[in-house]
Amino acid sequence: MEFAVESGLKTMKSGEGMRRNQTLICAPLMSDTVDQMVDLMLKAKSKGADIVEIRLDHLKIFNRHTDIEKLIKVCPLPTLFTYRPIWEGGQYDGDEKSRFETLQLAMELGADHIDIELKAAHEFNDFLHGNKPGKCKVIVSSHNYDSTPPVEDLGNLVASIQAAGADIVKFATAALDITDVARVFQIAVHSQVPIIAMVMGERGLMSRVLCPKYGGYLTFGTLEEGKVSAPGQPTIEELVNLYNFRLLEPDTKVFGVLGNPVSHSKSPKLYNEAFKSVGFNGVYLHLLVDDVPKFFTTYSSMDFSGFSVTIPHKEAALACCDEVDPVAKSIGVVNCVIRRPDGKLVGCNTDYVGAISAIEDGLLGLHNGSMGNSSPLAGKLFVVIGAGGAGKALAYGAKEKGARIAIANRTYDRARDLADLVGGQALSLAELDSFCPEKGMILANTTSIGMHPKVNETPVSKEALANYMLVFDAVYTPKITRLLREAAESGAKIVPGVDMFIGQAYEQYERFTGFPAPKDQFKKIMEN
Ligand code: NAP
Repeated sequence: MEFAVESGLKTMKSGEGMRRNQTLICAPLMSDTVDQMVDLMLKAKSKGADIVEIRLDHLKIFNRHTDIEKLIKVCPLPTLFTYRPIWEGGQYDGDEKSRFETLQLAMELGADHIDIELKAAHEFNDFLHGNKPGKCKVIVSSHNYDSTPPVEDLGNLVASIQAAGADIVKFATAALDITDVARVFQIAVHSQVPIIAMVMGERGLMSRVLCPKYGGYLTFGTLEEGKVSAPGQPTIEELVNLYNFRLLEPDTKVFGVLGNPVSHSKSPKLYNEAFKSVGFNGVYLHLLVDDVPKFFTTYSSMDFSGFSVTIPHKEAALACCDEVDPVAKSIGVVNCVIRRPDGKLVGCNTDYVGAISAIEDGLLGLHNGSMGNSSPLAGKLFVVIGAGGAGKALAYGAKEKGARIAIANRTYDRARDLADLVGGQALSLAELDSFCPEKGMILANTTSIGMHPKVNETPVSKEALANYMLVFDAVYTPKITRLLREAAESGAKIVPGVDMFIGQAYEQYERFTGFPAPKDQFKKIMEN
């Protein structure tokens, strides 16, 4: 592998198949029959796995002598044999002697790895009488499905696993909070022996994706979404193509979107594709966060470089920032937090930039792009539906551009508060249909009305839309909402929420990387 460092970006010289770390992707194979298991091995190879875990405990029936030999012979990848008993979360409920004999046979027949649970390891060692085939590496594993213990306890656990004769240490714990993963990273990065350290559940995703950064021996990647051997496993496809797993290194910078829920976010796809195409050494993750201050205090190293913030954390994130840009401060919410080289957290709001520039572009289209230096919003009556984070951003942004503001909101008091802040008029949602002090107004929906799956909902009647020259909808699933469809039918220019999303992402990308955003690439990704 060769890299040329140009302007801080690593330019990749080789093409597909590029790899910057030794961490393996292991596909857990779980099927009822040996023949199905063979099919899965071939699939694992074609998907890009490095090794397969053959879960013998999932086979309904097999002949120890012939089938293990067959599985090893036909497998196009290195093997790991696991025969997990029920008492450690597996499916095997037979006696230990028979289980040990099967694992011993796998070792003798050429398995590359076998997995034995810590609780059974000493007994297994006695059973082997020191006759361990040299080629086979023994993974001694421990699974805690309830929690992630304190770091001292994890250190002691690793020491006991080593003392039980492990060639490779494996432990998996449960993530009750995303900050649990930090303790596991602390252990993994200091381990003197090869280590597999996983934190289960959606809150533990970071442990599975970032293991090349923290020196993990392998991570588990499933063949298909949902067909997991432990909670929270991503697919091989996601590891390789969404998170650029092969490119991660110890000095890879970590970015991500903080939210709850967050798994639906398309941002990782957008940023990771862009990072890869320009050779930027960063990875962008889904971060399921419950407690924002705890997250920022725990992940305080410079490697955790920048974050997008989404519902419901935009206000809490602002409170964690050492500095906040003036617009975000006025709005009271941030959607982007950067860690500066001095370690300070700086918050800003790029939602407002994204939305306002998309609306300005729409208006300029109506004016054939000729408005001189002034904003096409100047002097217009700008009606915002909603008084939450996006509503505030739009109201402040439009006000800054010289528009006159009216706010309509389900909770009238919140409309009143925001209208008072920006010097505008407050309306209830019910008043919106008859609100027409003038023609040629601009309408911006910033509520979730009309969002998938409630795609038949709309905040304003079609008749009322005739009073607007431009209608914007922050909702971007679906891309064309009922509101936008009816606005177009009523003759208004429409601006979809995806334009706001792309606009705010340009801004964030530039703040994250210090480089201009690949705008055409972002548009292409979002179109797909
Ligand atoms: P938020 O702070 O929770 O505010 C939600 C707003 O929507 C509030 O004004 C709320 O009214 C109103 N609302 C919610 N459900 C409603 C309903 N069923 N009927 C009437 N009003 C309702 O959320 P936010 O961050 O502003 O986000 C709002 C929307 O904008 C979401 O759909 C989000 O996906 C979208 N958004 C899009 C982008 C983009 O890039 N396109 C960026 C940010 C946000 P009350 O005050 O009465 O509760």
